[in-house]
Amino acid sequence: MNVELVDLNEQDGPLRGRILDTVQSVITSSAFIGGSWVKQFESHFAEYVGANHCVGLANGTDALYVALKAFGIKAGDEVITAANSFIATSEAISMTGATPVFVDCQPDTFNIDPEKMAAAITGRTRAIIPVHLYGQPANLSRILEIARQFRCLVIEDAAQAHGACYQGRHVGTFGDCGCFSFFPGKNLGAYGDGGAIVTNNDEIATWIRMYANHGRLEKYSHEFEGINSRLDSIQAAVLSVKLTRLDQWTHDRRTIAKMYTERLRDIAITPTTGEGSEPVYHLYVIRVQNRDKVRDFLLTQGVSTGVHYPMPLPLLPAYRHLGYKPHHFETATQLSQEILSLPIHGGMSHEKVEYVVAKVSEAVRQAS
Ligand SMILES: *Cc1c(COP(=O)(O)O)cnc(C)c1O
Repeated sequence: MNVELVDLNEQDGPLRGRILDTVQSVITSSAFIGGSWVKQFESHFAEYVGANHCVGLANGTDALYVALKAFGIKAGDEVITAANSFIATSEAISMTGATPVFVDCQPDTFNIDPEKMAAAITGRTRAIIPVHLYGQPANLSRILEIARQFRCLVIEDAAQAHGACYQGRHVGTFGDCGCFSFFPGKNLGAYGDGGAIVTNNDEIATWIRMYANHGRLEKYSHEFEGINSRLDSIQAAVLSVKLTRLDQWTHDRRTIAKMYTERLRDIAITPTTGEGSEPVYHLYVIRVQNRDKVRDFLLTQGVSTGVHYPMPLPLLPAYRHLGYKPHHFETATQLSQEILSLPIHGGMSHEKVEYVVAKVSEAVRQAS
């Protein structure tokens, strides 16, 4: 049997007919940029997460960048984020001219450690970007409390957490802005790049809409220089169709995660759910000894796995100039050697889940 890490054919299969019809309508309408398809998706997604505004953007990296720009983050400022994330999070900080400040994670939830985060705040800290890693909400109550105390903005990186809830409310609505990615493999993925910012702040929403569209609302009345970072109509149309299935896929992911945890808890460290958090399992990540051996064996058995991520961001060559060392990120460094992402997606057959379970058990036995 072959099991892909993410199988979009299996997940989207039942929706493909509707998606193709919708794409056909966009092409026939020739409204490729802006217009009703984008408006409709923005309003449905805002309603879905429970925010007043949603602005579609070209990708999730831009969403983070534009959100920081909207609040005037600039050179000389510091922005705190998690050491264990995808590089887009810290790239967005650098794009504004500000300096990323990396903080270690908690060993159980893999999310940023709020107390270490508080310790990293200086007079230059303007914002914090908690990442809801693998679809699990970060400890927002403590993070917001600390941010309020030090008057820092909170920009949520919800790129992996569409539909995840914290204390009963959707992530992305707790901070000053919530940033989403619609990269194809994300829980809500386009058929190309896409992203969005959600916020309850009217003024910020308008500024973001203008900045991402050459500093204008009307055709040639540019109020300031912006950029071109728009969600296009074909992607918006695809996303509108797929949004109708997101809750079902989340339900599937939670069921699969439960199966994995019940069957693997005795042979690997399975995910821990933080208090008040309802994760959406963008990734299902276990910890095993001899991870690379386990991974190689699984590949010979047709099971694709992933490592998210193999190196803490501050230790990458890209951040050599910041001078961080592994001992600054003991937890993230250790995790990076043990983590293994197992196949998961909406509509994944339980037969495949059982196959992965059997092969992981075999692999762990072989590798020890
Ligand atoms: C995917 C991702 C992003 C960036 O999204 P793109 O749409 O690929 O630019 C940002 N942060 C995290 C944590 C992500 O996983």
